[in-house]
Amino acid sequence: SDQSNHSSSRLPNGKAHVQPQNGLSRKREALLSTKKGLPIWPHAEGIRAALRRNNVLVLTGETGSGKSTQVPQFLLSEPWCSKCIAITQPRRVAAISLARRVAEEMGTFMGTGKAAKVGYSVRFDNATGPNTRIKFLTEGMLLQEFLRDPEMEQYSAIIVDEVHERSVNVDLILGFLRNLVADLERGKAKKRKQPLKVVIMSATADVEGLVKFFDDGLKEETANGEAGGEAVEETNSVTPGAKKDKKMAKRSASDDTQPQQDNRISTCFVEGRQYPVKMVYLPEPTDDWVESALKLIFRIHYKEPLPGDILVFLPGQDTIEGLEKLVKDYAEGMEKDVPKLLALPLFAALPQHAQQLIFEPTPARTRKVILSTNIAETSVTVPGVRYVIDCGKSKIKQFRNNLGLESLLVKPISKSAAIQRKGRAGREAAGQCYRLYTEEAYNGLDERTTPEILRCDLSHAILTMKARGVDDVINFPFLDRPPREALRKALLQLLNLGALEETGVISERGLKMAKFPLTPTLGCVLVEAAHRDCLLEAIDIVSALSVENVFLNLTTDERKEEAETARRDLYRREGDHMTLLVTVQRYAEERTGRKAWCERHFVSHRAMQNVLNIRKQLRELCKSLKMLSYIPSDTPPAPSEERTKDILQCLLRGFIMNTARFMPDLSYRTFIGNQTVAIHPSSVLHKRQTEAIVFTEFVFTTKAFARGVSAVQYDWVDEVIEKVF
Ligand code: ADP
Repeated sequence: SDQSNHSSSRLPNGKAHVQPQNGLSRKREALLSTKKGLPIWPHAEGIRAALRRNNVLVLTGETGSGKSTQVPQFLLSEPWCSKCIAITQPRRVAAISLARRVAEEMGTFMGTGKAAKVGYSVRFDNATGPNTRIKFLTEGMLLQEFLRDPEMEQYSAIIVDEVHERSVNVDLILGFLRNLVADLERGKAKKRKQPLKVVIMSATADVEGLVKFFDDGLKEETANGEAGGEAVEETNSVTPGAKKDKKMAKRSASDDTQPQQDNRISTCFVEGRQYPVKMVYLPEPTDDWVESALKLIFRIHYKEPLPGDILVFLPGQDTIEGLEKLVKDYAEGMEKDVPKLLALPLFAALPQHAQQLIFEPTPARTRKVILSTNIAETSVTVPGVRYVIDCGKSKIKQFRNNLGLESLLVKPISKSAAIQRKGRAGREAAGQCYRLYTEEAYNGLDERTTPEILRCDLSHAILTMKARGVDDVINFPFLDRPPREALRKALLQLLNLGALEETGVISERGLKMAKFPLTPTLGCVLVEAAHRDCLLEAIDIVSALSVENVFLNLTTDERKEEAETARRDLYRREGDHMTLLVTVQRYAEERTGRKAWCERHFVSHRAMQNVLNIRKQLRELCKSLKMLSYIPSDTPPAPSEERTKDILQCLLRGFIMNTARFMPDLSYRTFIGNQTVAIHPSSVLHKRQTEAIVFTEFVFTTKAFARGVSAVQYDWVDEVIEKVF
């Protein structure tokens, strides 16, 4: 049951295409009246006026007030807007679903066709056409465009959405934009003739800080290239504009946009509708969120009337899938007269069509239970929710400087995130929020989430900056300056990977690495592989590492055993990477029954389709970078022993920080940092002993695990360490 007036079809090139059908006008009318009811609607004229006068607007508004869907539409027919509007999202899920929604609202096509006015661009999936006017893209994709088109000539406006999430990428975008806006205003742009309008949007932003950030950029007389000076920032303490802004923030929330005459940065506040939300805390702390959430879901379902869907926040895909299964099992045993329960997962790696299900209206006599990561916090607005269950945790990236390893850790969320989660319950009516922690624990939470730039591996960010010509990264205008030690570590890492010259200038190799939508480590593996003449194999491995789980996760022991047997001829004693290579090669060779082949081998068909798509794009990219002389139509033969050694040494070159040796006490210790790691149970090398390993992922759950593991020789590691350090 398609709720929209569009049907999706696949174009010959595999791109999704949304096509208007009959009943268009009636549907559009309904959509139009929904649009007009959004809190942002009365601000349309104010927003347009602010951007006619100023080039920068900072816009804050509650989640669901209509920022992401409406603002680009408000600006489309402005006199300055002759080109495309870019709007960035931290997650691909949001970019894709917003593009669909906006195309639907505008009654236009979405995708690659000539008639499509709306499109999206996410990693390895570009759905934009020659006449795209509104383009939703992930932050990483916009950064790539910054490298190709330094003055962003294809855009009339760039809207940076969800700034409060403060991903590293958004911080880089803000720094680049600040300098670009300042250069344009001073007539220092080399090519660009038209103005560039910039809108910074968020649910809970520090407006004052953002206004000051852009204002300082405009005031810096000495601003030159990308290097904004710390010193200049200090002499400009608080600007009059920013002071005024503080006053505005305190004013009654119903105020409309108040453009400031003497201010070069406009601000706008959109007040969302919020009904009261009743808070319930656990009396005692628990670690078993799944169990507590399960009990609560059924208590709410039996006790509370319909309608009223439940939104559960959990840390990640594993807990979500676990709870989904439990809810389904228990729901099957419910009495006939009890309404149905429909469990729907929501996480970044979920296939698109499954994500779209959360927007479908709840069927009659049914309650939806959406099990989500923090995606549903502000990024995606789930309609119909009246009950929120919040486990109080999320997975965050954490870089450990001393180890040089980055890992995903389950950590307590911040107060600000907890408040956002609670708010999801009161969007359409009064609601309830159950926190699976004590009130005391809530009071002990940090006020805000630490920006990613202060806690993650910066090597990718710095490579991007260097590729854009920022030589002095220490003085780059960061909204929050990362610690010097972290910058130093990242520079060192890039030096080790050969991305920088000794002088700190980006190398030929580094420029190539920056052009890949991959981490510098994976980029390095490819560049190395081109030298060692095993690039096609390396591309296959990197493609497989770029998707979630190629091998299906099996829950029962019986199924696990069955899968082990079925996959035996894919497994390689050299480890997971060669196993992935064989899997990709066999799948690619299987021309007729790929789906059946996947079923027989307990391999995810969807994941493999993605792998082949990524492989195709990486092959094309390598060809355009002259790393590959031609794109072969078939798969190379299974690698010889000699070639296997080459492939593993390429991995080693990129992942030298992720190497460990076998110790007499039967543990593995990293070569650099001497940290104990265990081989993850999902690895084909689990419980195997080998003199040294290289791993592509470091995860910390109950303990430190190496995931994606290959067996290598001790001497090889030594050799690379000798050469690099
Ligand atoms: P904001 O950016 O302020 O959070 P949005 O513009 O994303 O607000 O959302 C405005 C409204 O549009 C919300 O009520 C939301 O539920 C709805 N909406 C957004 N995306 C979709 C979609 N893909 N399908 C259906 N409704 C959507």
